[in-house]
Amino acid sequence: MTAAASTITTKGRVVALCGGVGGAKLAFGLARILGDRLTVVVNTGDDFEHLGLHISPDLDTVLYTLSGLANRELGWGRGDESWNFMSVLEDLGAETWFRLGDRDLALHVERTRQLRAGVPLTGIIAAFAKRFGIEAEILPMSDEKVSTTVVTPEGALPFQRYFVERRCAPVVREIRFDGADKAQPTAQVRAALGDPGLEAVVICPSNPFLSIDPILAVPGMRRLLQDAGAPVVAVSPIIGGKAVKGPTGKIMAELGLAATNMAIGDHYRGLVSGLVIDSGDAAERGAIDGPTHATATLMSTDDDRERLAREALGFALRLAAAKAAAT
Ligand code: GDP
Repeated sequence: MTAAASTITTKGRVVALCGGVGGAKLAFGLARILGDRLTVVVNTGDDFEHLGLHISPDLDTVLYTLSGLANRELGWGRGDESWNFMSVLEDLGAETWFRLGDRDLALHVERTRQLRAGVPLTGIIAAFAKRFGIEAEILPMSDEKVSTTVVTPEGALPFQRYFVERRCAPVVREIRFDGADKAQPTAQVRAALGDPGLEAVVICPSNPFLSIDPILAVPGMRRLLQDAGAPVVAVSPIIGGKAVKGPTGKIMAELGLAATNMAIGDHYRGLVSGLVIDSGDAAERGAIDGPTHATATLMSTDDDRERLAREALGFALRLAAAKAAAT
């Protein structure tokens, strides 16, 4: 660990809430700084059954990103991939809209086997993370099934049908988290957020509506965050009035929201102590309710990821210090 890192956190722990690609970039930066003092709570609303296999897209993106196995060109899956399985599926006239690489496939097969044998998803992911040499704790938001469903003029679409098969084309009228009412945060998530040594919670710049809201929809999750006794800071996924990638801006427009940092701040109102926005958007600070920190938030390189992670942690600790001084 560098000297700069030790000024950010002493020996405290940090929890990050994360979806897939955008969130995993910041989780990578946090993991570089914090190692085993980081817990990443990951969205499982995107999980689905496909070709008889249990797929957990966001958990796998976090596993692959933190282990350095991720495919940076595609933005999903593994870098060292081959596609024989897909090509035979095609020969068979089977469903090919969701691409599964040969190496990636092994993960889905083994996860599905263990789930069928009764192992909870949390335990399976912990074992995979260890095998991949990841120090951070990676936790599904819940071991119960929660299914993000996108309500469109064409009807209610399961998340992956909307996101991958239809490439987010249908207009979003409403987003549902089916099953969330019967889900609960796992004992491991409760322990991470209830840890007296918790110094900060970071909401990664994941899609607030599709990646973070499912986590917050698990009953009791908001209360755990509010009771955590550590500042919660969110990093905005919006830069210059646009999402860096993906449908966040489109969905915001369809839900009647402007793609602004103010709207992101409003969305997280009551939950976060502060919002990190891009330096280019610093002029928006006055319009945002609550404390903000402006810094470069585009993560193109690993160093960008680590730098933004330091900025977010430093901001959280300053908020905690200001709160302590005021009481
Ligand atoms: P998905 O589940 O794979 O769609 O990924 P996430 O929900 O975790 O992340 C999608 C969001 O990440 C999008 O709204 C992007 O705007 C945001 N994003 C991606 N890369 C960056 C980046 O470098 N900086 C910031 N601030 N946001 C990013």
